[in-house]
Amino acid sequence: MQTKRFIVRNDGFVCLHCGHHVPPAKAGCRNHCTQCLYSVHLDVYPGDRAAACGGLMEPVAIEYNSRKGYQIVHKCKSCGMTTKNVAALEDEIEPDSLFTVLAIMNDAAH
Ligand SMILES: [Zn+2]
Ligand SMILES: [Zn+2]
Repeated sequence: MQTKRFIVRNDGFVCLHCGHHVPPAKAGCRNHCTQCLYSVHLDVYPGDRAAACGGLMEPVAIEYNSRKGYQIVHKCKSCGMTTKNVAALEDEIEPDSLFTVLAIMNDAAH
């Protein structure tokens, strides 16, 4: 008997910036690297993969939103667009690197 595998859109990926193998998130949609927090400009709206840009998105700031929690501000190195993504700090499989989050907060404060 075969075990059916779940088909999820929340796929793991290999980070284009640091080469880390990022596993799928336990909950929600994984859209940035857990180690360097870089993302790739693929979405117009989260998860739609409709943007043709494909540029690397650099984490430039961390913001705190009382409803959504900590958000990573990403800026596309190709087209300059900025987006906000909720940080996966409590993901059970592999949380975002707190060290990197703190480093970005420090950088932004200078
Ligand atoms: Zn990375
Ligand atoms: Zn872009």
